[in-house]
Amino acid sequence: MGGEAGQRARDAPGAVGAGVPGPEAAEQALRRVFGFDRFLGHQQAVIEHTLGGGDSLVLMPTGGGKSLCYQIPALVQPGLGVVVSPLISLMNDQVAALRQQGVRAASLNSTLPYPEVLRIEARARSGDLDLLYAAPERVLNERTLGLLASVDLALIAIDEAHCVAAWGHDFRPEYLALSALGERFPGVPRLALTATADEVTRREILDKLGMEGAARFIASFDRPNLRYRVLPKDDPKRQLARLLEGEHRGDAGIVYCLSRRGVEETAEWLRGRGFDALPYHAGLETGERETAHRAFREREGVVIVATIAFGMGIDKPDVRFVAHLDLPKSLEGYYQETGRAGRDNEPATAWMAYGIQDVVRLRGLTENSDADDRHKRVTARKLEALLGYCELSACRRKALLAYFGEEYSGDCGNCDNCLAPPETWDGTVAAQKAMSAVYRTGQRFGREYLIRILRGDAGDERIHQYDHDRLPTFGVGRDLDARSWRSVFRQLAARGLLRVEVERHGSVKLTATSWPVLRGKETIELRRDRTPPRASRKKPAAGRPPRRTREDLSAENESLFGALRALRLEIARGNEVPPYVVFHDSALVEMTERKPRTLEEFAEIQGVGAAKLERYGERFLAVVRGHEAAATGAGETTTGAEAGAAPVREAVSRE
Ligand code: ADP
Ligand code: ZN
Repeated sequence: MGGEAGQRARDAPGAVGAGVPGPEAAEQALRRVFGFDRFLGHQQAVIEHTLGGGDSLVLMPTGGGKSLCYQIPALVQPGLGVVVSPLISLMNDQVAALRQQGVRAASLNSTLPYPEVLRIEARARSGDLDLLYAAPERVLNERTLGLLASVDLALIAIDEAHCVAAWGHDFRPEYLALSALGERFPGVPRLALTATADEVTRREILDKLGMEGAARFIASFDRPNLRYRVLPKDDPKRQLARLLEGEHRGDAGIVYCLSRRGVEETAEWLRGRGFDALPYHAGLETGERETAHRAFREREGVVIVATIAFGMGIDKPDVRFVAHLDLPKSLEGYYQETGRAGRDNEPATAWMAYGIQDVVRLRGLTENSDADDRHKRVTARKLEALLGYCELSACRRKALLAYFGEEYSGDCGNCDNCLAPPETWDGTVAAQKAMSAVYRTGQRFGREYLIRILRGDAGDERIHQYDHDRLPTFGVGRDLDARSWRSVFRQLAARGLLRVEVERHGSVKLTATSWPVLRGKETIELRRDRTPPRASRKKPAAGRPPRRTREDLSAENESLFGALRALRLEIARGNEVPPYVVFHDSALVEMTERKPRTLEEFAEIQGVGAAKLERYGERFLAVVRGHEAAATGAGETTTGAEAGAAPVREAVSRE
C-alpha cells in the first residue's frame, strides 16, 4: 500500500521550496489524489488558512466536504496530520477510503493487535504516514502524546467537534480534555469540524477546545439534494411501500419508527415484499446489531428499519432515502436524521408520514414529563415548530432553514409543496362544526365518534344511548367525507385549537384558542390533504446545478451501469471495503454515460484519482468496451464479453 499519489502531490510544483505549500499544491492534490476538478464551498479557504498556520472552526452540513479541509493540507505539507474522531467505525471508513486513493493513512484504536500498533507507530515516526486517526482518549494517553511529540505535526483536526458540548445530544466527556492538544503542541494548526452547531454550541466548542482565535468558516446548512416530503398518515405501511416500490427499489435507506415493535413489524413486512430490510433497535443482541450495520455498509440496497438508536457512526454516502413512520421529537432531530440521506450529494428523499396520534403522543410526552417548567416550555415550543412544519403549505426548505436561523430566498423547487402547491380552503365553518360537536357531547369522545355525529351516521349504539342523534350538530357535516374530517381534526389539533387527551382514549377537548373561532372572531385556513401523488421525477428547479443521476440513465445504459456496479462489488469484496469506497454511484453514472475508451478519458471521471486509475482503470474500461461490443453486435467480442456483460449479469443475479 504505497503512498504514491500522496507523494506525487507533495512533490508537485509549488509544494516544495518556499516553505509553505501554495494553493497550487492543494489543487494538484485535489485532482490527482481525489480526482475532483474544483473545491466546494469553503474548502479552499479553510485549506489555505490551515496551510498558513491558522486555526479554524468549520461548520458544514453533512456532505459539505469537511474531510478534504484537513486531508489536503496534511497531504501537501510535510509532517503528520492527526485526526480525532469519536467512533471507530467512522475512522475505519475514512482510512479505508483514503487507502483506496493511495494515501498513507492509518487509525490507532483499541481493536488493533499489538504488533499492528507498533507498526503504525513506527510508520508515523519514520515519516511514512500522512494521516493518523484516533479516538480522543487514545490521542490523549501518554504513549500517543509521546509519539506525537517525537514527530513533525502538520495539523490536528477534531472531527464531530460538537461532541464537546455538554448539553448537546452527542456529548462525550473525553472531548473536554482535547484542549490539552493546543497546550502541548502550540503552533500546530487545529481544525474543529462539525455539521451540527447553533451559535451557543459554536462558542462552546471554541471555548472548551481553547481555540478562541480560530477563523470561522460557516456554510449554508441547506441540503439542496434532499427532497422533503410530508404526508398525512392513513395506512403507513402501504404509504411506505408506495414510496419504496415506486421510487427506491434497490436503494439503501433508513426507516425510522418509534417503538421496537413498530421496527420489527415494519422490517418483517418489507421483507415480505421483497426488500432486503433489517430491524435495528436497542433491544437486539449486540451481534444482531452489528450484522445489521455490516449489511448496511457492505451490501447494496439494504433498508434498515430502526429506532433513533441507529444513526451516529453511519456515514454511508449513498443512503437514498430516510423515511419517518413516526414523528421525531423536534425539528433538530428531524434535520439530523434526514441529514443521513444523500451525503454523496446525489438526489435523495426525506419522507415523513404524520398523523394525529403523533400529535397526541408527543404532547403527552411533554406534558407528563417530570422536567421543570422551563424545560417543558422549551419542549412544547419545539413541538409546535415541528407540527407547524408538518402542516405547512409553503416551501418546507425555507421553513426549515428559517428555523435554524438561515434565510433562503425564493422557493426551493425540491420539496412536495414547491413541486405541487397544496390547495388551501376556508375551514372556518368546518372548524366551528367540529368544535361544536366536541362541546355538545361534553368533551368526552374521540375523533371517530365525533365524525360519526357530524356525518349523521347513527351506526354507533352510543349515539342512541346518549341521544346524540338529537343534537343540532348531528349530520351538519355531511358535506365532507370522513377522511376530510380526519384532516380537519388533525390540523386543528396540530395548531392547538383542539386538544386530544392521551389517557382518556383520545377524547377531544376545546382549548382557550377554540373560542374565538367558535364565536366567529377568527377565520381558519386549512390545507387540503392530497390523495397520493403520482411518483414525481421532476428535477430540482433551475439555478441548482443539474446533476446526472441514475434516474437519468436510458434502459440500455442501465445494463452497463449494472455491469459496472457488479465489478465494483467484486472489487469491494476482494478488498473487504464497502462498495462506495471503491467508487461512488455518481462516478459509475458518469462512466456509463461517457463510456471512456482510454485511461486518459477514464481519468477525467469525477472521483478517479491517480491511485484508482492505476488500480482499477483497465478493469472498468474492459467492462465498458465489452458492453459496447455486445451492443454493436461486433464479432470479436471474446475479450470484451469475458470482462463485460454476460458473466457480470450472472454476478448481479446472484446478489
Ligand atoms: P462531510 O464530512 O462534510 O459530510 P465528506 O467530506 O464526506 O463530507 O464529503 C461529502 C461528499 O462530497 C463525498 O462523497 C466527497 O467525496 C465529496 N466531495 C468532497 N469534496 C469534493 C469536491 N471538491 N468535489 C467533488 N466532490 C467532493
Ligand atoms: Zn420548497
